[in-house]
Parts: sequence; structure tokens; C-alpha cells
Amino acid sequence: MGKKFVRAIFPGSFDPITNGHLDVVRRAINLFDELIIAVGRSPIKNQLFTPEERVEMIVELVTGMPGVAVESFEGLMVEYAAKRKATVVLRGLRSLTDVQYEFQLAMTNRAVAGIETIFIMTSEQYGFTSSTLIREVASLGGDLSNLIPENVHKRLEERFSRLRTERS
Ligand code: ADP
Repeated sequence: MGKKFVRAIFPGSFDPITNGHLDVVRRAINLFDELIIAVGRSPIKNQLFTPEERVEMIVELVTGMPGVAVESFEGLMVEYAAKRKATVVLRGLRSLTDVQYEFQLAMTNRAVAGIETIFIMTSEQYGFTSSTLIREVASLGGDLSNLIPENVHKRLEERFSRLRTERS
């Protein structure tokens, strides 16, 4: 029997992508034939970057990684996964708090769509890296060079210096 082609989807807000997300992507590539990084266009979440900007930043980072694609999606993630014929959802885990939430999410997704979730544990140096904290620290001008890629760092600086001038 031939080997089955496995396409996985890595859904998230990626507002913005961090070295923690990238580390999960790099380690997951070897497990699947194709990996789609799927940027959610959630109307509810408070977003710093538009979905287009978030996709652009990720594309800059994964160009040249074989088998990795970047897309954005609207609506239910499991419906999007089905449309793209992805059979696995990839998620990252940082802490026990993540486990609690992700456990519920994975159970729900399996119940409603029969899709399996595979988790990759963070590398210890990124265990505390979250997009929310990155946005907060960047807004206060903190040094984030170890936690986010250079292109993201530049965009954050641009965004916050613009916001500061708009406000003053
Ligand atoms: P969401 O809003 O769907 O949680 P995020 O962009 O915050 O989207 O995260 C997407 C996925 O990446 C989630 O599974 C999250 O737990 C995981 N993740 C975020 N930061 C890290 C990190 N530093 N290490 C490992 N996984 C991470």
C-alpha cells in the first residue's frame, strides 16, 4: 500500500507570528507532506495587524521551506480544513493552561468534524512567548529581538511609531 499524503493545517491568529510559532512550524515540517499555516480572520479578536499583513510577514519567513503554504481563512476552522482536504490540525503547547484550552478545542473539533489534532510542545526558550505579550512589550518599546524574527520586529516598530505620532 502506498503512503498516504498528509496535509496538516496550523491555524491561529499569528498577530504577529513569533519565534515560538516558527519553531513549531520547523519541527512539524518533517511530520507531514504539506503544512498550511492558516491565519484566522476573526471579526471578534482585537487585532494589531490585518490578516493581509500577518500573511505577508509569514510568507517572508517561510519562503524556501518546502511543503509550507500560508493562507487566511474566515469562519469555522474545521470547515476550512475540510475544504483544503487537511486531515490534521497542528497546535502548539506552552503550559498547562494551554493544555486545558487546547484539550477542549481538540475534543470539540473531533466531535464536530472528526478531525485529529496533533500537538507540538514548545522549545523551552519560547515557553513564555505569546503574541499578546509581544504586542504589549513592543508597544512600550521593549527589546524583543530573541523572541520574534527581524521582519516582524521592523513591522512592530513601524506600527507603534505611527500610532504614537497619530496620538501626539
Ligand atoms: P490562537 O488565537 O488560535 O490561539 P495563536 O496565534 O495565539 O492563535 O497561536 C496559534 C497556536 O500556536 C496555538 O496552538 C498556540 O498554543 C501555539 N503557540 C503560540 N505561541 C507558541 C509558542 N511560543 N510555542 C509553542 N506554541 C505556541
